[in-house]
Amino acid sequence: MIIIEPRLDDLHILQQSEGRQLLLDELFISFRMSFPRLEFQLVTDNSIINAQAISLGNKRYVRLYGGLAFHPFASRDAIAFLLLHEVGHHLARGCRLPWDPRLACECVADHWAATEGATVLRSVGGAYFRLKSALRQIDLILAKNGQSADELSCDNVKDMQRESCWALNWPKRWQNVIQRKALNIATCPLSTMLLSYSKQARDLGGSNGYGAGE
Ligand SMILES: [Zn+2]
Repeated sequence: MIIIEPRLDDLHILQQSEGRQLLLDELFISFRMSFPRLEFQLVTDNSIINAQAISLGNKRYVRLYGGLAFHPFASRDAIAFLLLHEVGHHLARGCRLPWDPRLACECVADHWAATEGATVLRSVGGAYFRLKSALRQIDLILAKNGQSADELSCDNVKDMQRESCWALNWPKRWQNVIQRKALNIATCPLSTMLLSYSKQARDLGGSNGYGAGE
């Protein structure tokens, strides 16, 4: 997931919640049943609000970090969708991330999560989540960290294949995920878009605020 990188200051309340622990245990059991070739890791002591897909040698990992796992605005819906997005980076076919050809690009991972991934998770892992509710929760998390959906739409990338790649365009991403819209491009333009966005943010005297959560 390309998501802003701030850390959640206080994880303690939900870290100590039995209900949240149960929810995470249940989700991890379902994900491990559904996608047995992947290794799922919960990194409780890292407060970054993100999840990540990682390939190391022939091992493939999906990591969920504490800032997201224990975020008060994220319930089963957002956590399940974001984990599925990371699984999509590993399992979806099609356009690849420019910096790691072993991983599907952001838009393809989104589409896979909302379609094939959701079906496998439900039929094999017995876990269900509500897509619209997941996206609303992500909206709230972004807003809480000072980035509105409009800001994330990045006008500065509008001339750069915005019609095909929606990774940095949150409103478009939201809409395409809900519509289960497939992506039909061969090459992901994200590196160029991120470089352009960083340069323009630097020119404006700020930092880019983005990290590639893969
Ligand atoms: Zn991603």
